[in-house]
Amino acid sequence: MPELTLNTGTRMPALGFGVYQVPANETERVVTSALEAGYRHLDTAAAYENEAAVGRAIAASGIPRGELFVTTKLWVQDAGESTARDAFGRSLDRLGLDYLDLYLIHQPYGDYYGSWRAMQSLHGEGLARAIGTSNFYPDRLVDLIDHNETAPAVNQIEAHPFFQRGADLGVMRERGVQMTAWGPLGQGRADLFGHPVLAGIAEAHGKTVAQVSLRWLLQRGIAVIPKTVNPERMRENLSVFDFDLTDDQLKAIASLDTGASTAFDHHDPAGVTALGTTRFDT
Ligand code: NAD
Repeated sequence: MPELTLNTGTRMPALGFGVYQVPANETERVVTSALEAGYRHLDTAAAYENEAAVGRAIAASGIPRGELFVTTKLWVQDAGESTARDAFGRSLDRLGLDYLDLYLIHQPYGDYYGSWRAMQSLHGEGLARAIGTSNFYPDRLVDLIDHNETAPAVNQIEAHPFFQRGADLGVMRERGVQMTAWGPLGQGRADLFGHPVLAGIAEAHGKTVAQVSLRWLLQRGIAVIPKTVNPERMRENLSVFDFDLTDDQLKAIASLDTGASTAFDHHDPAGVTALGTTRFDT
């Protein structure tokens, strides 16, 4: 599994396994299957309410801690310097770990500057090997970098062939921030899997559209964290390091960009309030 070196020097497997919307009572089984399939990078969040089940799967796997890369995220209701530190402790307890590989601010809402100060301390204490952000558009990301000591190691944002985020990637490269794509399969929407351009490229390589979408992100230096509860698809999504997309194929995929989210508009005030005031059992 290729690894990416973060600005902290921490190494992160380029491909991980996401557990968004995996129900808590299925998560232990699903994560156990993912670890058996070969995933070593896991992506959860306090807001997914399945950290404890991820932790049980990790403990039962017997895989040495140093071979795993575990990410979780701070939800908006816990934003702020002391509240973020407390929330980090609860996440760590639920996961049954004594450090995290990566701790992210889940959304750029609330007192995330306070959160970032707490996270810089957690990083300094070795409790979070790397810290970062999620869903930060370039303006928010650059402002956070300009007014703090530590730049995020990672910014995890929506990215797939229909919402490519080229400008975001450019800013992250300039500022030494690793981009990770969430929803790298367009969150399983059929219009991605049935798209004729992607299907044609997949056929040319004897691969699937899912594999082409993941390869396209990875080939441009972007980390990916696809999700599936199906063990066969877990293996399919891991098998993306044995082919290269050609320049023409990269250009054909570039033409599919709509420039718009297929999930959530972070610039819509009503959406910001709705998401930012949603509370979870964190
Ligand atoms: P995704 O793009 O990974 O798509 C997941 C869906 O695609 C699955 O439900 C499954 O039905 C389908 N699928 C997966 N592999 C397939 C295959 N090989 N063939 C056909 N269908 C396949 O969407 P996602 O789960 O939303 O995103 C991945 C991860 O990113 C999440 O699990 C989570 O960890 C993270 N995430 C983060 C945020 C954030 O705000 N930071 C938001 C959403 C997701």
